[in-house]
Amino acid sequence: MDLSVLFDVSYGMYIIGVNDQGKLGGCIINTVMQITSENPIVAVSMNKDNFTYELIKNAGCFSISILSEKTSQKVIGTFGFRSGKDYDKYKDCSYELEHNMPVIKENCCGALFFDLISMTDMDTHVVLFGRLTDTMKLGDYVPMTYSYYHAVVKGKAPKNAPTYQKEEETSGVTKEKVSYVCKICGYVYEGDINEETQDYKCPICGKSKEYFEKRT
Ligand code: FE
Repeated sequence: MDLSVLFDVSYGMYIIGVNDQGKLGGCIINTVMQITSENPIVAVSMNKDNFTYELIKNAGCFSISILSEKTSQKVIGTFGFRSGKDYDKYKDCSYELEHNMPVIKENCCGALFFDLISMTDMDTHVVLFGRLTDTMKLGDYVPMTYSYYHAVVKGKAPKNAPTYQKEEETSGVTKEKVSYVCKICGYVYEGDINEETQDYKCPICGKSKEYFEKRT
């Protein structure tokens, strides 16, 4: 089966946020789908390993910040590749609590607020259903699509993303290739990073090439 065909299914880029009695959580998701029009309900898929999921189960509500093409790589790197279990993702980004839920204020198109109404177990993932309780327009930006993220930001899918695929699954064959991985955000550089100039920076988290280690 050629799983690379799945790359032609389009998605957006969002940060799902939660405040569980003062404990803030948030992570990048690409699967947000509006499934009813009146009194709107959305479905969101996320990995059960996500710390944010644990907090949402307790809090019973969540926010969605809609990322734009102007969203910084640092925000994507922090919320997409770090774990809230051991890192305060909100400490270096511009956010505010609205309806007591965190909303990313830096270059976002808008925010949506939901009450969690049900959840459906999907093996590794869970689908959350939320009823829209309020919206907030934040900026007149172009929403970032997942394909823009791949093509322009050159981002990879984190291991927990519903759309994550192992390299050999997309190519059909496992190739011996040299690659380096950013220790901060998990971005993979295909090729020998030593051939890059000294001022090369990780396109996701902005760290220098000293932070990359060879993949084995
Ligand atoms: Fe990085």
